[in-house]
Amino acid sequence: MCSVEEDIEDISKYSSNLRSKTLKEYRNLHKCKKCDLKSLVLLQKKDPFCKTCFFEYCSHKFRSTIGKSKKIKHGDKVLLACSGGRKSVALLHMTKETLAFATAKQISFIPEILFIDESISSPCLEENRNHNFYSIVKELKSYGYPVLYSSLEMVCKMNDNQEFFWNCENFDSAEDFPVCCDSQNCLKESMAGMSLSVKLDYIKHLRLLLMTEIASQAGFNHVFVGDTSCSLAENLLNDMNLGRGSQISADTNFYDTRYKVTVCRPLREFLNKEIGFYLHLNNCSYTVLPDLLTKTDAKSSIQRLTENFITNLQKDFPATVFTIFRTGGKLLKQDGVLGTETCLLCRSKLDNIELDACSALEALKLSEHLSKNSIPVIEESENILLKSSDGENLDLSRFLCHGCSIPFRNNKKGFQLHPLLKTAYVRMKRIEMKEEIKDFLINDNEAS
Ligand SMILES: [Zn+2]
Ligand SMILES: [Zn+2]
Repeated sequence: MCSVEEDIEDISKYSSNLRSKTLKEYRNLHKCKKCDLKSLVLLQKKDPFCKTCFFEYCSHKFRSTIGKSKKIKHGDKVLLACSGGRKSVALLHMTKETLAFATAKQISFIPEILFIDESISSPCLEENRNHNFYSIVKELKSYGYPVLYSSLEMVCKMNDNQEFFWNCENFDSAEDFPVCCDSQNCLKESMAGMSLSVKLDYIKHLRLLLMTEIASQAGFNHVFVGDTSCSLAENLLNDMNLGRGSQISADTNFYDTRYKVTVCRPLREFLNKEIGFYLHLNNCSYTVLPDLLTKTDAKSSIQRLTENFITNLQKDFPATVFTIFRTGGKLLKQDGVLGTETCLLCRSKLDNIELDACSALEALKLSEHLSKNSIPVIEESENILLKSSDGENLDLSRFLCHGCSIPFRNNKKGFQLHPLLKTAYVRMKRIEMKEEIKDFLINDNEAS
C-alpha cells in the first residue's frame, strides 16, 4: 500500500542527510585545508587557510612565478616600482620575505625601490603634494632598500641629458623633492583636451617609459611591477577596447621585452582579494592616493567600466579572472603582419603599416572617414584603401601605433608639443615638405 508515512520517513532521512552534509561542509570551511587548524581566510569559495598556510601559499606562488620564467638570474639588479598603494606594498613585502628566507639554491636578486610622483595627473593631489610623498617615501625607506624618486613630468627631460631621477637618501624634509615647472606645463599642455579614457592610457604608457628609462640609466636588469591577475584581465579588455589588440600578449605575460629594460609581473597569479588578505594579516600599512579614477562614475571611462566588471567577476566567479588573463598570452599577432619600426610611446612594433583590406583597422579608418566626410563615389577600379586613409593619420602612423595615435588624431598641437614626439614632428614636417617640392628637385639619377 502506498503510505504517506514512508514518504515522510524518506523526506526526514533526506533532510537529516542534507543537514549533516551542510554541517560537514561548514566544518570543513572552518578548518585549514592543509593542516586542520582553524581557518582564517577563505579563497575561491572553498579553499580555507590558516594564517601560516596562507603565507606559505602566497610565498610559494610568488617564488614559483619568478622561478618558472627562468629570466631572473642570481645577482640581477631589480627595480621595484612602488606607488605606496596596496599591490606595490604587497610586492615589496613579498620580495623582502622571499629574499630573507631564500636558501642558497633559491633565487636571489638585488632590489631597489622606485617611487614616481603622479600628482600632475590629479589636481586634488597638488595641494599637499610634497607632504604626501614625503610620508610615502619614509614608509618605503623602512623596508631597508635604497629608494629612487622621480615624477611623471620628468618624461620631458629624458632625452635632454639632464637629471630626471634622484636618490631619496638625502631627502630629509618634504621640501627636498625637486619640482620642474617647465616640464609640468609641457606635459599638461600635451594632455589638454584628451578624454578620460585616452588620458589614463597615455599616462600608463608614459609611466612605463619613464620607469624603464630610469632602470636602464641606473644599470638595472629588470623592473618589477605590481600587476595582479585582476589588473592583467583589465589590461586585456582595455587593450581590446582601446585599439591595442596587437599588444595584448606583451601586456599580460610575465615578461615584457618591449622596453630598454624588461618589465616583470611577479604578482600575476594573485587575485586582488588575496593581496588584500595578505596585507591585512601582515599588518602592512599602505597609502591609497586619489587618482584620475577616484570618485568617478562607473561609466566615466573604459578603464573604470572594465575595473567594475572584473571586480564583480572576482567576487562571483574568481576562476574566470584567471581564464581571461591566461587567454591573453595566446593572442599573438602573426609574424609579418607587424612592421619592423617601433612606436615612440609604447615601444610596440607598429601595427598600422601593412594595408590589409580586410583588417579591423582598415574598417575603422573607412567608417571614420565616411562619418566625417560625405559618401564618396567609388569607381570599381579605384582602390578603396587610399580613399579610406586620411592624410593626418597616415603621418602619425609613421611614428605611433594605432592605439598611441588616438590621443593625437584631433590634437595635432598635443603631438607637436609633446617632448618625446617633438623630433618626430620635425621629421614629419620635413617629409611633408619634401613631398610638396619633389617635382622641383633634381634626383641623383637625372643628374648623372
Ligand atoms: Zn594551515
Ligand atoms: Zn604605441
